[in-house]
Amino acid sequence: MGSQEKKTLVIRNGTLIDGSGTPARPNQAIVIKANRIQSVGTLPGEIPSRAGDHMQIIDATGQWIMPGLIDGHCHLSFGFPQISGGPSTRGTTSPGFSALRAARNAQQVLRSGVTSVAVPGGTWFNDVAIRDAINAGLIEGPRIACAGRFIVTYGGITDNEPSWVGTPEHTIGVLANDVSEMITEVRRQCKHGVDFIKLADSTWGDTQLLAPEELCAVVQEAHRRGARVTIHSRGAGSTKAAAEAGMDWILHADLATDAELEVVAETGVRLMPTMTFLRRGVEVGPEFGRGPRDMDMLKRHWESAVHMLERARALGITITCGTDSGNSPLMPYGQLHADEAEILVRYGGYTPMEAIVATTRNTAYALGLEDDLGTLAPGKLADIIILKSDPLADIRVLQGGQHLATLIKDGKIITLNGDGVEEMLAFAQPTPA
Ligand SMILES: [Zn+2]
Repeated sequence: MGSQEKKTLVIRNGTLIDGSGTPARPNQAIVIKANRIQSVGTLPGEIPSRAGDHMQIIDATGQWIMPGLIDGHCHLSFGFPQISGGPSTRGTTSPGFSALRAARNAQQVLRSGVTSVAVPGGTWFNDVAIRDAINAGLIEGPRIACAGRFIVTYGGITDNEPSWVGTPEHTIGVLANDVSEMITEVRRQCKHGVDFIKLADSTWGDTQLLAPEELCAVVQEAHRRGARVTIHSRGAGSTKAAAEAGMDWILHADLATDAELEVVAETGVRLMPTMTFLRRGVEVGPEFGRGPRDMDMLKRHWESAVHMLERARALGITITCGTDSGNSPLMPYGQLHADEAEILVRYGGYTPMEAIVATTRNTAYALGLEDDLGTLAPGKLADIIILKSDPLADIRVLQGGQHLATLIKDGKIITLNGDGVEEMLAFAQPTPA
Protein backbone atom coordinates (compact mmCIF):
# COMPACT_ATOMS: atom_id res chain seq x y z
CA MET A 1 0.00 0.00 0.00
CA GLY A 2 2.82 2.41 0.92
CA SER A 3 4.46 2.39 -2.50
CA GLN A 4 1.19 2.83 -4.36
CA GLU A 5 0.33 5.92 -2.34
CA LYS A 6 3.32 7.74 -3.79
CA LYS A 7 2.32 6.86 -7.32
CA THR A 8 0.60 9.34 -9.58
CA LEU A 9 -2.33 7.91 -11.48
CA VAL A 10 -3.58 9.61 -14.63
CA ILE A 11 -6.79 8.79 -16.49
CA ARG A 12 -6.57 9.91 -20.11
CA ASN A 13 -9.30 10.20 -22.75
CA GLY A 14 -12.83 8.86 -22.49
CA THR A 15 -16.02 10.71 -21.62
CA LEU A 16 -16.26 12.45 -18.25
CA ILE A 17 -19.47 12.49 -16.20
CA ASP A 18 -18.26 14.41 -13.17
CA GLY A 19 -21.26 13.87 -10.86
CA SER A 20 -22.11 17.55 -10.56
CA GLY A 21 -24.81 17.41 -13.21
CA THR A 22 -22.87 19.39 -15.83
CA PRO A 23 -23.11 17.75 -19.25
CA ALA A 24 -20.74 14.90 -20.11
CA ARG A 25 -17.57 16.13 -21.81
CA PRO A 26 -14.42 14.67 -23.38
CA ASN A 27 -11.85 13.87 -20.70
CA GLN A 28 -8.31 15.12 -21.18
CA ALA A 29 -6.65 14.06 -17.95
CA ILE A 30 -7.65 13.30 -14.38
CA VAL A 31 -4.57 13.35 -12.17
CA ILE A 32 -4.73 11.42 -8.89
CA LYS A 33 -2.08 11.79 -6.20
CA ALA A 34 -2.34 9.58 -3.13
CA ASN A 35 -6.06 9.32 -2.45
CA ARG A 36 -7.24 12.62 -3.92
CA ILE A 37 -7.87 14.12 -7.32
CA GLN A 38 -5.25 16.74 -8.06
CA SER A 39 -6.58 18.08 -11.34
CA VAL A 40 -9.27 17.54 -13.97
CA GLY A 41 -8.74 18.95 -17.47
CA THR A 42 -5.51 19.61 -19.32
CA LEU A 43 -2.51 17.64 -18.09
CA PRO A 44 -0.49 19.92 -15.76
CA GLY A 45 2.99 20.72 -17.13
CA GLU A 46 4.89 19.01 -14.31
CA ILE A 47 3.13 15.65 -14.90
CA PRO A 48 4.95 13.48 -17.47
CA SER A 49 2.73 12.25 -20.31
CA ARG A 50 4.29 8.77 -20.26
CA ALA A 51 4.08 6.02 -17.69
CA GLY A 52 7.08 5.53 -15.45
CA ASP A 53 8.17 4.27 -12.03
CA HIS A 54 5.92 6.63 -10.15
CA MET A 55 3.39 7.20 -12.83
CA GLN A 56 0.57 5.00 -14.09
CA ILE A 57 -1.69 5.88 -17.00
CA ILE A 58 -5.15 4.48 -17.65
CA ASP A 59 -6.37 4.99 -21.20
CA ALA A 60 -10.17 5.31 -21.08
CA THR A 61 -10.67 5.77 -24.81
CA GLY A 62 -14.21 4.69 -25.71
CA GLN A 63 -15.19 4.50 -22.04
CA TRP A 64 -17.12 6.59 -19.50
CA ILE A 65 -15.59 7.97 -16.31
CA MET A 66 -17.71 8.89 -13.31
CA PRO A 67 -17.68 8.99 -9.49
CA GLY A 68 -17.94 5.65 -7.72
CA LEU A 69 -21.50 4.65 -6.85
CA ILE A 70 -22.82 5.26 -3.37
CA ASP A 71 -25.49 3.09 -1.77
CA GLY A 72 -26.85 5.10 1.12
CA HIS A 73 -28.80 2.17 2.56
CA CYS A 74 -26.92 -1.11 2.64
CA HIS A 75 -26.81 -3.51 5.58
CA LEU A 76 -23.60 -5.53 5.82
CA SER A 77 -23.99 -7.44 9.06
CA PHE A 78 -27.57 -8.70 9.18
CA GLY A 79 -28.02 -12.45 9.21
CA PHE A 80 -28.96 -12.21 5.51
CA PRO A 81 -28.72 -13.20 2.76
CA GLN A 82 -28.53 -16.75 4.04
CA ILE A 83 -25.54 -18.67 2.80
CA SER A 84 -25.15 -22.40 2.51
CA GLY A 85 -22.93 -23.87 5.19
CA GLY A 86 -23.43 -20.94 7.53
CA PRO A 87 -24.82 -21.22 11.01
CA SER A 88 -28.58 -21.13 10.77
CA THR A 89 -29.81 -21.24 14.32
CA ARG A 90 -29.56 -18.53 16.92
CA GLY A 91 -27.47 -20.75 19.16
CA THR A 92 -24.63 -20.71 16.65
CA THR A 93 -24.84 -17.00 15.85
CA SER A 94 -21.71 -15.19 16.94
CA PRO A 95 -20.30 -11.69 16.53
CA GLY A 96 -17.18 -13.23 14.99
CA PHE A 97 -19.00 -15.09 12.24
CA SER A 98 -21.22 -12.10 11.61
CA ALA A 99 -18.21 -9.79 11.25
CA LEU A 100 -16.32 -12.13 8.93
CA ARG A 101 -19.35 -12.54 6.70
CA ALA A 102 -19.87 -8.76 6.70
CA ALA A 103 -16.25 -8.39 5.52
CA ARG A 104 -16.98 -10.63 2.57
CA ASN A 105 -20.19 -8.76 1.82
CA ALA A 106 -18.25 -5.49 1.83
CA GLN A 107 -15.76 -6.84 -0.71
CA GLN A 108 -18.55 -7.96 -2.98
CA VAL A 109 -20.27 -4.57 -2.77
CA LEU A 110 -17.07 -2.74 -3.69
CA ARG A 111 -16.35 -4.93 -6.70
CA SER A 112 -19.71 -4.07 -8.19
CA GLY A 113 -18.58 -0.45 -8.49
CA VAL A 114 -19.95 0.82 -5.19
CA THR A 115 -17.13 2.74 -3.53
CA SER A 116 -19.17 3.96 -0.54
CA VAL A 117 -22.04 2.73 1.56
CA ALA A 118 -23.96 4.12 4.49
CA VAL A 119 -25.03 1.32 6.80
CA PRO A 120 -28.15 2.23 8.76
CA GLY A 121 -28.01 -0.56 11.28
CA GLY A 122 -26.47 -3.95 11.89
CA THR A 123 -25.66 -6.46 14.59
CA TRP A 124 -23.36 -5.77 17.57
CA PHE A 125 -20.91 -3.03 16.47
CA ASN A 126 -19.78 -5.17 13.56
CA ASP A 127 -20.15 -2.42 10.96
CA VAL A 128 -17.90 -0.14 13.01
CA ALA A 129 -15.34 -2.96 13.01
CA ILE A 130 -15.64 -3.52 9.25
CA ARG A 131 -15.31 0.21 8.59
CA ASP A 132 -12.21 0.45 10.77
CA ALA A 133 -10.64 -2.67 9.25
CA ILE A 134 -11.13 -1.26 5.74
CA ASN A 135 -9.74 2.11 6.75
CA ALA A 136 -6.74 0.40 8.33
CA GLY A 137 -6.08 -1.50 5.08
CA LEU A 138 -6.70 -4.91 6.65
CA ILE A 139 -9.51 -5.85 4.28
CA GLU A 140 -10.90 -4.60 0.99
CA GLY A 141 -14.22 -2.81 0.94
CA PRO A 142 -16.09 0.39 0.24
CA ARG A 143 -15.88 3.56 2.29
CA ILE A 144 -18.34 3.09 5.15
CA ALA A 145 -20.35 5.33 7.43
CA CYS A 146 -22.46 3.31 9.82
CA ALA A 147 -25.01 3.35 12.57
CA GLY A 148 -25.29 0.83 15.38
CA ARG A 149 -28.45 -1.12 16.07
CA PHE A 150 -31.70 0.72 15.39
CA ILE A 151 -33.16 2.49 18.40
CA VAL A 152 -36.73 1.20 18.72
CA THR A 153 -39.61 1.26 21.17
CA TYR A 154 -41.85 -1.67 22.13
CA GLY A 155 -43.58 -2.98 19.01
CA GLY A 156 -41.21 -1.28 16.58
CA ILE A 157 -39.36 -2.88 13.69
CA THR A 158 -36.92 -5.56 14.95
CA ASP A 159 -38.67 -5.87 18.35
CA ASN A 160 -39.73 -9.37 17.43
CA GLU A 161 -39.28 -11.19 20.72
CA PRO A 162 -41.53 -11.13 23.78
CA SER A 163 -40.76 -8.31 26.22
CA TRP A 164 -39.05 -10.74 28.63
CA VAL A 165 -36.50 -11.55 25.93
CA GLY A 166 -35.98 -8.00 24.66
CA THR A 167 -33.53 -7.26 21.86
CA PRO A 168 -30.31 -9.29 22.18
CA GLU A 169 -27.09 -8.06 20.55
CA HIS A 170 -27.52 -10.38 17.55
CA THR A 171 -30.71 -8.55 16.57
CA ILE A 172 -30.57 -5.32 14.66
CA GLY A 173 -32.67 -3.26 17.03
CA VAL A 174 -32.16 -2.09 20.58
CA LEU A 175 -35.08 -1.18 22.80
CA ALA A 176 -35.21 2.26 24.38
CA ASN A 177 -38.63 3.18 25.68
CA ASP A 178 -38.28 6.71 26.97
CA VAL A 179 -36.16 9.80 26.41
CA SER A 180 -33.68 8.88 29.12
CA GLU A 181 -33.07 5.39 27.71
CA MET A 182 -32.69 6.82 24.22
CA ILE A 183 -30.12 9.38 25.28
CA THR A 184 -28.18 6.67 27.11
CA GLU A 185 -28.23 4.50 23.97
CA VAL A 186 -27.09 7.39 21.75
CA ARG A 187 -24.18 7.98 24.13
CA ARG A 188 -23.33 4.25 24.20
CA GLN A 189 -23.34 4.02 20.40
CA CYS A 190 -21.26 7.18 19.99
CA LYS A 191 -18.74 5.79 22.51
CA HIS A 192 -18.41 2.74 20.23
CA GLY A 193 -17.71 4.87 17.17
CA VAL A 194 -20.87 5.01 15.07
CA ASP A 195 -21.07 7.75 12.45
CA PHE A 196 -24.79 8.24 12.81
CA ILE A 197 -27.80 7.09 14.78
CA LYS A 198 -30.61 5.04 13.25
CA LEU A 199 -34.04 5.41 14.78
CA ALA A 200 -36.90 3.23 13.62
CA ASP A 201 -40.62 3.82 13.77
CA SER A 202 -43.15 1.10 12.90
CA THR A 203 -42.18 -1.52 10.30
CA TRP A 204 -44.91 -0.71 7.76
CA GLY A 205 -45.90 2.76 8.90
CA ASP A 206 -49.35 1.96 10.26
CA THR A 207 -48.75 3.49 13.69
CA GLN A 208 -46.49 6.24 14.98
CA LEU A 209 -44.35 4.66 17.70
CA LEU A 210 -41.90 7.45 18.49
CA ALA A 211 -43.05 10.61 20.22
CA PRO A 212 -41.91 14.01 18.89
CA GLU A 213 -40.06 14.79 22.14
CA GLU A 214 -38.15 11.50 21.79
CA LEU A 215 -37.11 12.33 18.23
CA CYS A 216 -35.96 15.80 19.29
CA ALA A 217 -34.02 14.44 22.26
CA VAL A 218 -32.15 11.92 20.10
CA VAL A 219 -31.37 14.52 17.43
CA GLN A 220 -30.05 16.98 20.00
CA GLU A 221 -27.91 14.44 21.82
CA ALA A 222 -26.49 12.92 18.63
CA HIS A 223 -25.72 16.30 17.09
CA ARG A 224 -24.02 17.44 20.30
CA ARG A 225 -21.72 14.43 19.87
CA GLY A 226 -21.11 15.03 16.19
CA ALA A 227 -23.28 12.20 14.90
CA ARG A 228 -26.07 12.60 12.37
CA VAL A 229 -29.46 10.92 12.72
CA THR A 230 -31.70 9.08 10.31
CA ILE A 231 -34.99 7.26 10.79
CA HIS A 232 -36.96 4.39 9.30
CA SER A 233 -40.25 6.21 8.75
CA ARG A 234 -43.09 5.30 6.43
CA GLY A 235 -46.41 6.86 7.42
CA ALA A 236 -48.83 7.71 10.24
CA GLY A 237 -47.36 11.15 10.77
CA SER A 238 -43.86 9.90 11.53
CA THR A 239 -42.30 11.54 8.47
CA LYS A 240 -43.64 14.99 9.38
CA ALA A 241 -42.55 14.48 13.00
CA ALA A 242 -39.09 13.39 11.84
CA ALA A 243 -38.66 16.44 9.62
CA GLU A 244 -39.79 18.79 12.38
CA ALA A 245 -37.40 17.16 14.85
CA GLY A 246 -34.46 18.02 12.58
CA MET A 247 -33.62 14.54 11.35
CA ASP A 248 -30.70 14.68 8.88
CA TRP A 249 -32.35 12.39 6.38
CA ILE A 250 -35.44 10.20 6.33
CA LEU A 251 -35.56 6.63 5.04
CA HIS A 252 -38.60 5.39 3.07
CA ALA A 253 -41.37 8.00 3.62
CA ASP A 254 -43.44 5.96 1.17
CA LEU A 255 -46.74 6.55 2.98
CA ALA A 256 -46.07 10.23 3.68
CA THR A 257 -49.04 12.40 2.73
CA ASP A 258 -48.69 15.40 0.45
CA ALA A 259 -49.06 17.66 3.51
CA GLU A 260 -46.22 15.79 5.25
CA LEU A 261 -44.01 16.13 2.20
CA GLU A 262 -44.61 19.88 2.23
CA VAL A 263 -43.17 19.96 5.75
CA VAL A 264 -40.18 17.91 4.55
CA ALA A 265 -39.65 20.42 1.74
CA GLU A 266 -39.92 23.43 4.09
CA THR A 267 -37.42 21.97 6.55
CA GLY A 268 -35.01 21.00 3.77
CA VAL A 269 -34.61 17.45 5.06
CA ARG A 270 -33.37 14.93 2.49
CA LEU A 271 -35.30 11.79 1.64
CA MET A 272 -33.91 8.36 0.82
CA PRO A 273 -36.96 6.54 -0.59
CA THR A 274 -35.28 3.12 -0.78
CA MET A 275 -37.71 1.92 -3.42
CA THR A 276 -35.40 -0.83 -4.66
CA PHE A 277 -36.47 -3.09 -1.80
CA LEU A 278 -40.19 -2.55 -2.57
CA ARG A 279 -39.75 -3.20 -6.29
CA ARG A 280 -37.66 -6.27 -5.67
CA GLY A 281 -40.28 -7.53 -3.21
CA VAL A 282 -43.03 -6.99 -5.77
CA GLU A 283 -40.98 -8.78 -8.44
CA VAL A 284 -39.59 -11.80 -6.62
CA GLY A 285 -41.40 -11.88 -3.25
CA PRO A 286 -43.27 -15.16 -3.83
CA GLU A 287 -40.00 -16.95 -4.69
CA PHE A 288 -38.76 -15.98 -1.24
CA GLY A 289 -41.83 -17.13 0.62
CA ARG A 290 -43.82 -13.92 0.72
CA GLY A 291 -47.52 -14.81 0.87
CA PRO A 292 -50.48 -13.04 -0.78
CA ARG A 293 -51.01 -10.65 2.16
CA ASP A 294 -47.36 -9.60 2.11
CA MET A 295 -47.52 -9.18 -1.65
CA ASP A 296 -50.62 -6.95 -1.48
CA MET A 297 -48.89 -4.82 1.12
CA LEU A 298 -45.66 -4.56 -0.89
CA LYS A 299 -47.64 -3.49 -3.98
CA ARG A 300 -49.54 -0.88 -1.99
CA HIS A 301 -46.29 0.54 -0.60
CA TRP A 302 -44.68 0.52 -4.03
CA GLU A 303 -47.54 2.45 -5.62
CA SER A 304 -47.58 4.94 -2.77
CA ALA A 305 -43.80 5.33 -3.07
CA VAL A 306 -44.08 6.15 -6.77
CA HIS A 307 -46.59 8.89 -5.95
CA MET A 308 -44.37 10.15 -3.11
CA LEU A 309 -41.38 10.30 -5.47
CA GLU A 310 -43.32 12.42 -7.99
CA ARG A 311 -44.51 14.79 -5.23
CA ALA A 312 -41.04 15.03 -3.69
CA ARG A 313 -39.58 15.93 -7.07
CA ALA A 314 -42.25 18.58 -7.66
CA LEU A 315 -41.56 20.06 -4.20
CA GLY A 316 -37.81 20.22 -4.82
CA ILE A 317 -36.91 17.78 -2.02
CA THR A 318 -33.38 16.42 -2.35
CA ILE A 319 -33.54 12.70 -3.10
CA THR A 320 -30.67 10.43 -2.11
CA CYS A 321 -30.23 6.81 -3.17
CA GLY A 322 -30.30 3.70 -1.04
CA THR A 323 -31.44 0.16 -1.77
CA ASP A 324 -31.69 -1.78 1.51
CA SER A 325 -29.38 -4.43 0.05
CA GLY A 326 -28.64 -7.09 2.64
CA ASN A 327 -31.86 -6.51 4.61
CA SER A 328 -33.30 -9.92 3.77
CA PRO A 329 -32.61 -12.97 1.60
CA LEU A 330 -34.17 -11.29 -1.43
CA MET A 331 -31.66 -8.44 -1.40
CA PRO A 332 -28.29 -9.93 -2.47
CA TYR A 333 -25.05 -7.96 -2.31
CA GLY A 334 -23.35 -6.59 -5.39
CA GLN A 335 -26.39 -6.67 -7.66
CA LEU A 336 -28.98 -4.05 -6.72
CA HIS A 337 -26.98 -1.00 -5.60
CA ALA A 338 -27.67 1.01 -8.77
CA ASP A 339 -31.32 -0.03 -9.07
CA GLU A 340 -32.46 3.04 -7.16
CA ALA A 341 -30.98 5.29 -9.87
CA GLU A 342 -32.84 3.30 -12.50
CA ILE A 343 -36.08 3.64 -10.51
CA LEU A 344 -35.66 7.43 -10.42
CA VAL A 345 -35.44 7.43 -14.22
CA ARG A 346 -38.15 4.91 -14.91
CA TYR A 347 -40.75 6.00 -12.35
CA GLY A 348 -39.68 9.44 -11.12
CA GLY A 349 -39.16 11.30 -14.39
CA TYR A 350 -35.45 11.88 -13.70
CA THR A 351 -32.98 12.11 -16.53
CA PRO A 352 -30.11 9.58 -16.31
CA MET A 353 -27.82 12.53 -15.48
CA GLU A 354 -30.07 13.59 -12.58
CA ALA A 355 -30.18 10.00 -11.33
CA ILE A 356 -26.39 9.77 -11.45
CA VAL A 357 -26.12 12.99 -9.43
CA ALA A 358 -28.62 11.55 -6.93
CA THR A 359 -26.60 8.37 -6.41
CA THR A 360 -23.22 10.10 -6.26
CA ARG A 361 -23.15 13.75 -5.14
CA ASN A 362 -26.45 13.75 -3.23
CA THR A 363 -25.85 10.49 -1.41
CA ALA A 364 -22.35 11.49 -0.25
CA TYR A 365 -24.29 13.37 2.43
CA ALA A 366 -25.26 10.08 4.10
CA LEU A 367 -21.56 9.44 4.67
CA GLY A 368 -20.97 12.93 6.05
CA LEU A 369 -18.62 13.46 3.10
CA GLU A 370 -20.65 15.87 0.96
CA ASP A 371 -17.62 18.16 0.61
CA ASP A 372 -15.19 15.37 -0.27
CA LEU A 373 -17.05 12.82 -2.29
CA GLY A 374 -19.53 12.27 -5.10
CA THR A 375 -18.04 14.52 -7.77
CA LEU A 376 -14.82 14.38 -9.76
CA ALA A 377 -13.06 17.69 -9.15
CA PRO A 378 -9.69 18.86 -7.78
CA GLY A 379 -9.33 18.10 -4.07
CA LYS A 380 -12.01 15.40 -3.96
CA LEU A 381 -11.38 11.84 -2.79
CA ALA A 382 -10.44 9.62 -5.73
CA ASP A 383 -13.33 7.15 -5.88
CA ILE A 384 -13.86 6.58 -9.60
CA ILE A 385 -15.47 4.02 -11.89
CA ILE A 386 -14.73 3.65 -15.60
CA LEU A 387 -17.46 1.97 -17.64
CA LYS A 388 -17.42 0.18 -20.99
CA SER A 389 -20.90 1.48 -21.85
CA ASP A 390 -22.66 4.84 -21.60
CA PRO A 391 -24.82 5.15 -18.45
CA LEU A 392 -26.50 8.25 -19.92
CA ALA A 393 -27.82 6.15 -22.80
CA ASP A 394 -29.04 3.43 -20.44
CA ILE A 395 -28.85 3.91 -16.68
CA ARG A 396 -28.91 0.11 -16.20
CA VAL A 397 -25.27 0.10 -17.31
CA LEU A 398 -24.51 0.91 -13.65
CA GLN A 399 -26.08 -2.27 -12.29
CA GLY A 400 -24.20 -5.23 -10.89
CA GLY A 401 -20.76 -4.11 -12.04
CA GLN A 402 -21.46 -5.73 -15.42
CA HIS A 403 -19.96 -2.87 -17.45
CA LEU A 404 -17.08 -1.97 -15.17
CA ALA A 405 -13.70 -1.55 -16.86
CA THR A 406 -11.75 -0.01 -13.99
CA LEU A 407 -12.51 0.60 -10.33
CA ILE A 408 -10.57 3.08 -8.24
CA LYS A 409 -11.24 3.55 -4.55
CA ASP A 410 -9.28 6.00 -2.42
CA GLY A 411 -6.80 6.45 -5.27
CA LYS A 412 -6.08 2.72 -5.59
CA ILE A 413 -7.02 0.43 -8.45
CA ILE A 414 -9.11 -2.48 -7.18
CA THR A 415 -8.70 -5.86 -8.85
CA LEU A 416 -12.01 -6.77 -10.43
CA ASN A 417 -11.36 -10.41 -11.20
CA GLY A 418 -9.11 -13.01 -9.75
CA ASP A 419 -9.15 -13.80 -6.03
CA GLY A 420 -11.97 -16.24 -6.77
CA VAL A 421 -14.49 -13.48 -7.20
CA GLU A 422 -16.70 -15.60 -9.46
CA GLU A 423 -16.81 -18.35 -6.86
CA MET A 424 -17.49 -15.74 -4.24
CA LEU A 425 -20.43 -14.38 -6.18
CA ALA A 426 -21.82 -17.88 -6.68
CA PHE A 427 -21.27 -18.71 -3.03
CA ALA A 428 -23.18 -15.70 -1.82
CA GLN A 429 -26.28 -16.21 -3.94
CA PRO A 430 -29.32 -16.04 -1.70
CA THR A 431 -31.18 -19.27 -1.07
CA PRO A 432 -34.89 -18.92 -1.79
CA ALA A 433 -36.95 -20.12 1.17
ZN1 LIG B 1 -32.79 -0.98 6.00
